[in-house]
Amino acid sequence: MEVIETGLLATHYTDHQALFFLEEGIFVDAQTASPLLPFGKTVHSLDLVVERAYLYDSTLMLRCQSSLPLDQIVENGFDIHNPKALLTFPDEKIQHLVLRAAQWLAWDEKLQYCSKCGSKVQKGKDLTEKRCNTCNLSFFPKFSPAVMVLIQRDREVLLARSAHFKPGVYSALAGFVDMGETAEEAAHREVKEEVGLEISNLEYFGTQSWPFPDVFMIAFKAKYVRGDINIDVNELEDARWFDVKNLPELPSYASISRRLIESFIAAEME
Ligand SMILES: [Zn+2]
Repeated sequence: MEVIETGLLATHYTDHQALFFLEEGIFVDAQTASPLLPFGKTVHSLDLVVERAYLYDSTLMLRCQSSLPLDQIVENGFDIHNPKALLTFPDEKIQHLVLRAAQWLAWDEKLQYCSKCGSKVQKGKDLTEKRCNTCNLSFFPKFSPAVMVLIQRDREVLLARSAHFKPGVYSALAGFVDMGETAEEAAHREVKEEVGLEISNLEYFGTQSWPFPDVFMIAFKAKYVRGDINIDVNELEDARWFDVKNLPELPSYASISRRLIESFIAAEME
């Protein structure tokens, strides 16, 4: 990834494909819903001011401002979406570009000052490093590791919901990894704390970068061993066993939790 001088965009990059991020979201083509738009044509029709520009793998990633009202944006054939909504876009390459751009832009904007002395940080050796020259400290993008656990008991799974979920949606249990802890230890601890159950046979499923904000999710399947559901009411609103044939509304396909639950359904329906 490299920084592009915004002054060079109009002369050198008009034919490039670009992702346009605004405060309110990301521009998409209203017809195709794709966020990958031709740079020159889009800048012109939306009267955009580009504040910062980066090039990644021949795609421009842009932070910009538009003075146009929403109805005029729609008239010109565009729409503004939440970047999260694009994580279900059919083209996985575009999903990954949006994830990368959203996470990188958020980090670059947030990290302006040294957390030890408060001095303004400077660019480091590459775009994922910033430096405080007073403290001789480097800062890199940070992720918080978290674990997700889908507990199975015969043909049932344990699903739970927090108060901030969409009404009716249940998901697998999840929580952050503590300092000094392994992901496996975190999985056992979170399950014990949140629902009071003991599990075994922890089986790795997959991971996901989730930049809303900076979570790195590690997903597991596990088998129920013993215990009755005893909810931590500070974390959860409800948790229950659901039969594979009678599941509640599940999270969006954008999140790894959906893929985790779908893999259980597929295995049980065989
Ligand atoms: Zn400092």
